[in-house]
Amino acid sequence: MIQGDFTRAIIHMDLDAFFVAVECLRNPQLRGKPLIIGGRGKRGVVASCSYEARKFGVHSAMPTGMALQLCPDALVISGDMEAYSNYSKLVTDIIAEASPLYEKASIDEFYIDISGMDRFMGSAYLWGKELRSSIIKNSGLPISMGLSVNKLVSKVATGEFKPNGEKHILQGEEREFLAPLSIRKIPMIGKKTGQFLMEMGVKDVRTLREVPLKMLQSAFGKNGTLLWKRANAIDTSPVVPHSDRKSISTECTFDTDTIDIKKLKALLTAMVEKLAFKLRSEQKLCACITVKIRYSNFDTVSKQCHIPYTSSDRALLDHALRLFDRLYVKRVLLRLVGVRVSHLVHGHYQIDLFEDTQEQIELHQAMDKVKFKYGTDKIIRAATLEVNKKVRLDNNVFQG
Ligand SMILES: [Mg+2]
Repeated sequence: MIQGDFTRAIIHMDLDAFFVAVECLRNPQLRGKPLIIGGRGKRGVVASCSYEARKFGVHSAMPTGMALQLCPDALVISGDMEAYSNYSKLVTDIIAEASPLYEKASIDEFYIDISGMDRFMGSAYLWGKELRSSIIKNSGLPISMGLSVNKLVSKVATGEFKPNGEKHILQGEEREFLAPLSIRKIPMIGKKTGQFLMEMGVKDVRTLREVPLKMLQSAFGKNGTLLWKRANAIDTSPVVPHSDRKSISTECTFDTDTIDIKKLKALLTAMVEKLAFKLRSEQKLCACITVKIRYSNFDTVSKQCHIPYTSSDRALLDHALRLFDRLYVKRVLLRLVGVRVSHLVHGHYQIDLFEDTQEQIELHQAMDKVKFKYGTDKIIRAATLEVNKKVRLDNNVFQG
């Protein structure tokens, strides 16, 4: 937090067109070409695209068919989440090694708090520049960087100077930097809020700043205050260390101990579905899953595995069942089963559905919408119907 004359130094780093950059690294012939990563089928969806494709108006979440109309020469590649997860980890390791305090905000995005380090390391900007070149050298991936006194301004700076850019917004110049930018550049302003403001004639940050705080509050409630703060370059949110990122878990103790495999697997399925839904509703992806069992004599064992970033039921269930099979080797009575997902980062559901068609994605989203509205018990697989009621979700209750 900002107190007295203590000034923070927050670096934001974001890999440029990350999925595309990984594909080009694996196949250099793709460099400089208009590329689309996403569903290949007629009704597939763009998960990511190269800057060359963006010039034609292609963007993520657009149906691939439409993208190909805009840019007929684009090459469509179905994504490889495992490769992207590995490169993401490589970059994370470089940052973790160098940084006193960092947050992995998404698969390709990081915040680093180097407040107070200037005294020991010279300029914070130089430190960031060095880290950035080390990432580029060691991973082969292009990355951009912004530095300022807070997360908001640094993130916007990275975005403005992409690709392959770096920028230091000096203390005191934050407001001036944001002023001419479109309001859509402010991270919290999505399509809906953006449209609403545009209709009010508020197009850039400077104009947004002139809207009275009271008016923003009556239009957007609590978010109005936040909006006003952002327009004024105020952001005191801390960099949340990687290790503090929460995991989500669930466990279930049986009324009577059981060895009924069918029942146990149905229960596991219900648990995983709830966890996956929770991830999606919080727009998170996980990279690690753990299954735990407790025998009737209270012996407790668990196994975990690192997985490509995902929030999909299917992917998580595959891993959970495989872990369970490896774990449950003594065919004796069980009294408890638990599942935990961890290594969470911000990210969208769609990105691990490269092969899904738009209809499938829409079906998943429609099911999730019903769950949001009526509670998670309303839509469940027939197989999990019986056991589903028993499953409760908890944050961080999973021990040993
Ligand atoms: Mg990126």
